[in-house]
Amino acid sequence: MRRKYSIAPLGLLLAATAGAATCPAALTEIAGRVAQLRGVPPPFNPPCRLIKPGELRAELDRKLRRDLPTAPELYIEALARTGFIDGDPSNIYKTLLTFYSAQVLGFYEPEADEMVVVDTPAAERIEGAFVWAHELAHAAQEHRFHLPSRLIAIKGDSDEQRAASAVAEGEAMLVMFLLNAATAGDEQLSAAESAVAQQARTLSTPPGLPPYFVDDLVFPYRTGFAAALRAYRKGGWPEVDRLLAHPPASSAALLHPDRRFASVDIPAGELPPPPEGWEEVLTDNTGEWGLAFLLGRAMPADRADAAAAAWDGDLLRLIRSRAHPDTWALAWRIRCPSAEARASLEATMQRVVPGLLAHLAPPAAPSITWVAAGRTLELRAGWPPSRPSPS
Ligand SMILES: [Zn+2]
Repeated sequence: MRRKYSIAPLGLLLAATAGAATCPAALTEIAGRVAQLRGVPPPFNPPCRLIKPGELRAELDRKLRRDLPTAPELYIEALARTGFIDGDPSNIYKTLLTFYSAQVLGFYEPEADEMVVVDTPAAERIEGAFVWAHELAHAAQEHRFHLPSRLIAIKGDSDEQRAASAVAEGEAMLVMFLLNAATAGDEQLSAAESAVAQQARTLSTPPGLPPYFVDDLVFPYRTGFAAALRAYRKGGWPEVDRLLAHPPASSAALLHPDRRFASVDIPAGELPPPPEGWEEVLTDNTGEWGLAFLLGRAMPADRADAAAAAWDGDLLRLIRSRAHPDTWALAWRIRCPSAEARASLEATMQRVVPGLLAHLAPPAAPSITWVAAGRTLELRAGWPPSRPSPS
């Protein structure tokens, strides 16, 4: 399932802020260089909106309520019900806001085409140039490709959104790197790629925050930077522009750049509708990234990654009983490239998924049925039997 857009981990994107009532000088100075590097037509000077550090939390809360497929508290509960995270959803949301607030000192907001700048005394530090180059690159993505606003508009396909977000973050990191590097030969680019991968691996999880959110935050930077670099090496900025104009449709396409994907989404109509007395919580997908994360909760990460590489499409529907809102049910359809790949993934999932879904409908573990046909696997957990309609 999905992530919010454009919040950079501090280790990957250093801090800077403003002291003046206008844009920080470091931001204004670098805007012209971003425009020139990325061919943004003038004028390119997004206005700045200064906010107090104490207002950042509310700002991020508003952003998450806009961007997530459902209310954040319910979304986090969905992650807990389906085994992605452990813990009390309402506490986790508070911890998550604290975590994000600590990472963010400014961001580009596509809705108003403005830079939101946290006004702290640490203004105009030298690292400012890094932050603003990155955030201005997002502004340039909006001016040239409407990518940030397209990202917000992708609803109900978290995996596609994750892939597009990765491309946006990867290009912004490339811009940031190239504008701040004295030289940018192949060696420097490779070193930057290794440094980002290393920082991504070592970003620590704060107490009380499930690892899911850190992995979710880091994926677009690590994978996206690698994708942007691949394109840049292959054909320079024109190739990077193609990536921004047509981002990969899935995390799998980013993880396996040489593999061909049919890119046919599973239609929502292939999943059963909520039966009478039940309501939909959400219909969405996990993508290969999400499937690998989930399986990795119950088995070693390398084996989970290998099993999830059989992903060639998925869609899940979560519902809950209107009379007993603590009773949830899941229908999840996963497509693989071949029947053999499906059989192998099915064997793995049958082993670990029952344990992962233990909290779907407490107090009892849900009953799970598995239906396999060719390369498609469908599981239903706690799903109420459909009653024949009275005739
Ligand atoms: Zn960013």
